[in-house]
Amino acid sequence: MKNLIAELILISLLTAVVLLGIHEYSSSPSYTPVVERTEQVMGTYASITICDRNTTRANLALDAAFEEIKRIDTLMSLYNESSEVAALNRNGMNWTPLSSDTIYVLTKAGYYSRLSNGSFDITCNPLVQLWMVKVREEHRMPTPDEIKEASELVGYEHLIINEELSRARFDKEGMSITLGGIAKGYAVDRACEILLEAGIKHALVNIGGDMRAVGDKNGAPWEVALQNPRNKAEFILLLELENESVATSGDYERYFFLKDRIHHIINPKTGHSADECMSVTVITPRCIDADALATAVFVLGPEEGKALLDERGLKGLIIASDKRLIKSEAFR
Ligand code: ADP
Ligand code: MG
Repeated sequence: MKNLIAELILISLLTAVVLLGIHEYSSSPSYTPVVERTEQVMGTYASITICDRNTTRANLALDAAFEEIKRIDTLMSLYNESSEVAALNRNGMNWTPLSSDTIYVLTKAGYYSRLSNGSFDITCNPLVQLWMVKVREEHRMPTPDEIKEASELVGYEHLIINEELSRARFDKEGMSITLGGIAKGYAVDRACEILLEAGIKHALVNIGGDMRAVGDKNGAPWEVALQNPRNKAEFILLLELENESVATSGDYERYFFLKDRIHHIINPKTGHSADECMSVTVITPRCIDADALATAVFVLGPEEGKALLDERGLKGLIIASDKRLIKSEAFR
């Protein structure tokens, strides 16, 4: 049994190293039992670590937190036909009734679209599908017409959200959204709220590298290592987290080569993969904000991205495509 647990812990640590932009750094000795679980969800791995004297309570809290992550995934997955996002995309200009969770995420997304002047835009789905599905399958660059056609279906101002009646629709035919740049952060926040409700005071929730620390790790901060985007085995920085979140957007998780590196973060202004950064890490209290901001800054590029972080006194680290390491003022 002990061997099995050791093996599981090792496997989950290795998965974290291999798959995540950031992973939980191996821990300092702790005298309170640590309960950890990793599951595959939201197209990636989620792991939750809890320090609590009461392991029964910790395990029940883990169950509830994973249930919550799955509930969010069921609402927001693009690929699940019965999700609210799929319904909204199908219904187009007709209203789609939505849960308060989805309304909240759509509203946050709209806020970050305005803040980033359209660099963050969940309606970029037609461009994501063009690059990450069609171009990838057909092994050819898209024609300017294909890019133009998809770009014409992008524009956050065409997504109409009615908060009072909890529903949304597009005001233009053929549009669709993807919450890939924000839903993981929201799911991390929800999981943390469930843990707090269950009386947990020390935990780390990690979904695909988007993380939030509940409290500290029994007196010491949670430590997470930031990977080198071009050599994942190498860590370039150790972050200490306590009651805060971190998210990373990178060009090295979902990509392929066709002339240039093509990856899943799209610049809605050019209709191509955003090419000014290799990775962007943002630290905020809530994970939904870090997730959306990391994507937004990645698209804006090092100069405009840093300016956005500095205007709001936010902590962030940008690794530019030319390998420059740029820290926001608050990060220094
Ligand atoms: P990851 O999913 O690797 O953590 P991100 O949080 O940056 O990285 O999210 C990337 C996803 O966000 C893409 O797969 C796509 O679904 C969506 N996306 C791509 N470009 C944008 C954009 N400009 N604005 C908002 N969402 C985007
Ligand atoms: Mg993001």
